[in-house]
Amino acid sequence: MKAQKQNIILDSINYLKIFLPLHKEFNTFKHIGQAISDPLKVSYISQGKINGIKENTGVKIGNRPTDEQRNKYFTATSIEKLLKKLFVINTSEESATMYDVVNKIDDYLRQNIEYKYFITDDVSGFYHNEPENYNGSCMAGKPKRYFELYDHINKIDNDVTVKIVGFKTQDLTIARGLLWCKTYKLNQEGKTNKVYFLDRIYVHSKLQNASFSKLQFELFQTIRKHYRLDKLDVFNKGQIESYLVSKYGDMPKFSYKTDKKYCSFCVDVSGYEDLDSYPYMDTLKYIDDSDLLNVEQEDAIIILDQTNGEYTSKECTCDECGYTFDEDDLQYSEIDNQDLCSDCREYIDERDEYVNSMNALYNEYTGYFHYSGDIR
Ligand SMILES: [Zn+2]
Repeated sequence: MKAQKQNIILDSINYLKIFLPLHKEFNTFKHIGQAISDPLKVSYISQGKINGIKENTGVKIGNRPTDEQRNKYFTATSIEKLLKKLFVINTSEESATMYDVVNKIDDYLRQNIEYKYFITDDVSGFYHNEPENYNGSCMAGKPKRYFELYDHINKIDNDVTVKIVGFKTQDLTIARGLLWCKTYKLNQEGKTNKVYFLDRIYVHSKLQNASFSKLQFELFQTIRKHYRLDKLDVFNKGQIESYLVSKYGDMPKFSYKTDKKYCSFCVDVSGYEDLDSYPYMDTLKYIDDSDLLNVEQEDAIIILDQTNGEYTSKECTCDECGYTFDEDDLQYSEIDNQDLCSDCREYIDERDEYVNSMNALYNEYTGYFHYSGDIR
């Protein structure tokens, strides 16, 4: 299988030799093939490096380098970058020919990767170690402390766990998402029922066009099988169902297996205020004043929608008394330059605006308030 893949890469390079001038160092690139560490890339080794390794370590890279040697000594790169090193591109026609081959090889690599299911409880460690900008997720590679909330949720006694699930090939993550689980205690004897929610699934950027929905569907199916679930709530319900319709036609036999596209339970996050930083979250991102994290915006006092470790607060303080209120319960007074609660403000009819009630004078005769600055 592997030998065949490498032949397709070499065959394509040989085909390009007919159309494109060779770079003067063309012949120094040896053993071009699919990269071991990242199967979406190609790898090679230069003749100079082969000589150097032999001289310094005694290791001989022969005609058929082992996977271990490929992994250890070879340089992994995109097929585009490699072809630009092998050939001299002068005209737009040559460039077009080269990019045809780039696309062909990229497609081939994409369609032939093998990947395995993985699951981990170390959510903060996983996110922190992810390479940035490879799957469109704004949280990849951010500081570990940004993700403490997940560890906190797994640690406290709230009957909820959150894990990362996905597909990997070697060290490369192909697809991943959060899997939430809530355990309901059904009776005193300890019988329980577990409810799952598969949150938004992110796919490696190189695979987004080719197999985005396919990977989402496969992950969904894997979770269902792994946990023996008949139905599963899944954020990407829409994509998964349209994938099935496009593949199987109108009555996809799986479509009814997706239930809701949102999480049906809340998550107790008591004590979250003590954390230093907070993650950006896709669906479960609203925290209410009972310390419940949920998908409803209604009673939210905090929204986890910031990518810099902070959060958006819906709570505001009155600039006069200092108490906290819902944003909607405060009014801004332009003349006093303060946000004021209903106790600390007065409406001045003749000005058509609110002022600090300390600055409002009542006229017993007319029954109207005036602004103190307006009275001589
Ligand atoms: Zn007030």
